[in-house]
This record gives sequence, structure tokens and C-alpha cells, in this order.
Amino acid sequence: MARHPATTAGGLAVITGAASGIGLAAAAQFARLGMRVLLVDVDEARLAAAADQVAAAAPEGRDAVDTFVADVSRRAELGRLATHVGTLPGGADVVMANAGIQPGSRLFGGEDTWRAVIDVNLWGVIDTCRMLVPGMIAGGKPGLVIVTGSKQGITTPPGDPAYNVAKAGVKAFAEALEHELRSTTEGRVSARLLIPGFVFTPLTARGRVEKPAGAWTPEETIAFMMERLEAGDFYILCPDGETTRELDRRRIAWAA
Ligand code: NAD
Repeated sequence: MARHPATTAGGLAVITGAASGIGLAAAAQFARLGMRVLLVDVDEARLAAAADQVAAAAPEGRDAVDTFVADVSRRAELGRLATHVGTLPGGADVVMANAGIQPGSRLFGGEDTWRAVIDVNLWGVIDTCRMLVPGMIAGGKPGLVIVTGSKQGITTPPGDPAYNVAKAGVKAFAEALEHELRSTTEGRVSARLLIPGFVFTPLTARGRVEKPAGAWTPEETIAFMMERLEAGDFYILCPDGETTRELDRRRIAWAA
């Protein structure tokens, strides 16, 4: 199968939440393909270690890897990021809006937690895309926007309502973005919604050291994502019986 045209060697992938987990595995994979990668994260210390790890995977080594400290819930910081990306040769070819948190929430009370989860997981995705995608459209090249949702945005299980609401919003935003890009760029720039299931990362480890049975590694998740990117799917749903059944039950209309 052909590689997605936006992921060609020498192109630039900008990934938020790249200091850990799924974002870090994605950065390493894009680097392995010969892309330049810009790792964006709020955690400066982990970002430096992540950059070393990604450089080890890149044929061009350290020259292919750069970092940018930004909090995706702060529009001004994303504005600085967009300005920086605009100065890089060719601008961004791939944008992955992936940063997220899951502190746990309850329906009533916990006001600050609700705000933080919606600000990072939903506004962070919306603003990352609204700041970076216009540059990709204007650039005239093939472009790819990957948004990290969650199966919880589809199955909305009880127990963590703020996260579910944010991820359901992320799904709706990614769908709106893809509709817009189809009509304005005729698919030259396209959006994809990554729907991980249970991936063993610091977000889900909750004190566990060993990967629980049934959990995916970030690398497995990204390997699956790359396959589905090649296949051209909009919904990149990591196979998971529960989510698949729920999707069928709700008769969600899958994009052609
Ligand atoms: P992770 O904790 O390993 O990585 C998340 C990264 O995002 C961290 O490096 C963190 O510093 C960064 N981050 C957090 N807040 C930020 C902010 N305000 N600005 C910039 N960076 C910030 O988690 P992960 O499991 O790799 O999660 C990545 C994405 O995948 C998240 O959006 C998460 O909701 C989603 N997801 C994860 C799972 C799972 O099982 N791990 C399942 C479904 C969806």
C-alpha cells in the first residue's frame, strides 16, 4: 500500500503531547520514516528525554528532531507555536493534536478538574488545529491532521464524565474538520480520528508497572494507525470488541 503523501521523507510532523506515550511513539515512527519532527509538550523535562529517544530512531539523528514547550490549553502558547512552525521550511505536513489528560472526574463538584479536562482535551485539540491547519491549507502541499480521540468519546461509559464529554467533542470536531477540508482542499489536506482503546501509558498506568492483559503498547497503537492511514480510513478505531459493538448498536454512520 502507498504511504500517505503527507508523510514523505523530509516533511515536518508536529505532534502535541509528544513527550510520552502515544505521541512519543508517533514521533518516533514519523522520524523513522525520515520526517523531521517537532515534539510539543507542556512537560519540559520529559520533552528533552523524548527528543533523545526520537533522534535515535531518525535516520538523520538529532538534526531531524526539535522540541517546543507549550501548554495546548493556552491559546497564546499555541499562537507562538504556529508562528514558529511558519518559520520552518515548508511548514507542517502532518499535525497530530494528541495532548491529553485524564485525572478522573465526577458529575457534580470538581469544578477545576472539569475545566482542566475540557481546556486541555477539547480546547487544546480545537485550538491546535485552528492555529496550525490554515498554514497547511495555504501551503498547497498534501497535509494530514491526526486528532486523538478515545473510545470513551463513543461508548461514554459511566465514571469519568468530563473526559467522555471532551472526547465526544473531539470526535465531532474531527468530523467537522474533515468535512471542511474535503470541500476546501478536495482531500489534499485530510483529517483522521485516532480512536485508541486501552493503551498502557503513564495516563492509564495508575501505579501499575506491568502492562495489563489486553492493553496495547503505544508502539502497537501507532503501527496500527500507520496501516490505517495507508488504507485511507477516517476513523482509526483500534479493534476492541466493546467499542465496535457499541458503534454498531448506535448505527454511527461511518465515513466512506
Ligand atoms: P501520556 O500521559 O503518556 O501522554 C500525554 C502527554 O500529553 C504527556 O507528555 C503530557 O505531558 C502531555 N500534556 C498533558 N497536558 C498537556 C498540555 N496542556 N499541553 C501540552 N501537553 C500536554 O498519555 P497517552 O496515553 O499517550 O495519551 C495521549 C492521548 O491519547 C490523549 O489525548 C489521551 O486522552 C488519548 N488516549 C489514550 C488512551 C490510553 O489508553 N492511553 C486511550 C484513548 C485515548
